[in-house]
Amino acid sequence: MDVLMLKPVFKDAIWGGKLLSDFGYKEAGDSAGECWGISAHKNGDCTVMNGEFAGKTLSWCWENHRELFGNMEGDVFPLLIKILGAEDDLSIQVHPNNEYAAEHENGALGKTECWYVLDCEEGADIIVGHHARTREELVQMIDEGKWDQLLNCFPIHKGDFFYIPSGTVHAIRKGTLILEVQQSSDVTYRLYDYGRLQNGKPRELHLDKSKDVITCPHSGVSTTGAWDDRKDYRVRQLVKSQYFTVEQWKVGTALDLEQKYDFLLVDVTEGSGMADGIPVKAGDHFIVPYQYGTMHVEGNLEIITSHL
Ligand code: ZN
Repeated sequence: MDVLMLKPVFKDAIWGGKLLSDFGYKEAGDSAGECWGISAHKNGDCTVMNGEFAGKTLSWCWENHRELFGNMEGDVFPLLIKILGAEDDLSIQVHPNNEYAAEHENGALGKTECWYVLDCEEGADIIVGHHARTREELVQMIDEGKWDQLLNCFPIHKGDFFYIPSGTVHAIRKGTLILEVQQSSDVTYRLYDYGRLQNGKPRELHLDKSKDVITCPHSGVSTTGAWDDRKDYRVRQLVKSQYFTVEQWKVGTALDLEQKYDFLLVDVTEGSGMADGIPVKAGDHFIVPYQYGTMHVEGNLEIITSHL
């Protein structure tokens, strides 16, 4: 049985730049913002590069070979992994939950996401949450454009992790390279865009829907567990939620990675090595299918794994 090595899809963004090509994605170009590393979403469907399914898209594999994913049910492959390279600030935004998206966005999934900071500039910051105590106060501050007072902005560092449940106001800001694990959804409500123009026009805002879905008051949670030090590697849980469980592994020499889930998503975030004889390096993404067994990883590398 082969792992599914995936060819990423790149997307340009007004806040994009060279961070993704500097990370090692030469094909990303000079204005890319997003690398969709593991995706079966129609807006960016990854292609399998190896083995029996070489040349097929991940959505095709999901439709035609559900046994790769433990025969789990569902219309769409549930997760999406991105790497975001922000050379400028992203708009302040919020995502709906499953119920709201189903009702208002043609049955789309909601979007809970999480971020691991792969790298950032000295002095980089991030926005997560807000300071309004009531919905009335929230609406008033939005209507009056009191963004500095409303938004919770704080400094970040390489290795930080943030869990962003649907309903959380958030924005990645300039000088940040982030790995994002999220529900497979592309529904974003834009609250504020710093008055920027794209092709001479401001991008659309979604104020009413944002006011509907923002959790009020904001409730932040830290989800990251302690490092568990083993002989050849260390591992920590970044988050375990109803939507996904994400873990980080720092491999010193070797790791036997047990695949005991419907599927296991693997992102190599630093270094290089071998995964059951396949050379892997930072920026590679692959899926370990159902009943694969144990994968032997060798090398000096960091990986992030995600599963349901
Ligand atoms: Zn988001």
